Amino acid sequence: MKKITAVYPGTFDPITNGHLDIIERASDLFSEVIVSIAVNSNKKPLFTEDERLDMIRNVTDHLDNVKVDSFKGLLVNYAEKVNANVMIRGLRAISDFEYEFQMSLTNKRLNPSINTIFLMPNEKYTYLNSSLVRELAQYNANVNEFIPDYILKKLKEKFGY
Ligand code: ADP
Repeated sequence: MKKITAVYPGTFDPITNGHLDIIERASDLFSEVIVSIAVNSNKKPLFTEDERLDMIRNVTDHLDNVKVDSFKGLLVNYAEKVNANVMIRGLRAISDFEYEFQMSLTNKRLNPSINTIFLMPNEKYTYLNSSLVRELAQYNANVNEFIPDYILKKLKEKFGY
């Protein structure tokens, strides 16, 4: 069977159980999955690039065909560089659709041979995003069920409690 390499791009600030759900599904479907942090100089993330690389590596350690990386610039250029034929995005709700649809059509125009594939997480993660986790964790609210233990530890260190 043809080898299919998929890139899963995102900010992952920090990675949540929703992201992990998508990564595990992708790992079952594709030969190789590269989870890649989009480094964007306009955004000021809570965690540095190195911290996010470490966190993603740690929580995907059990998945043999998952690699972790980062990139700057256009996603299609990066996908070409790592020989990926698929880009993965998570779809939580209709509200994600318009933006994702526009991005996917734009990327398709830039490189028609790379397909975007949308995966839906378990419904219990449909409302979950990183900014919610950051906001709750900042006030020491209970975020156990949204993130792996290692990420909880890192959030506690970051917020100093
Ligand atoms: P971005 O800044 O590109 O939205 P994120 O790290 O927030 O980066 O998300 C990366 C991808 O993961 C996006 O496709 C997003 O829709 C998806 N995603 C984020 N949270 C979840 C979740 N709880 N369930 C499923 N997919 C998710």
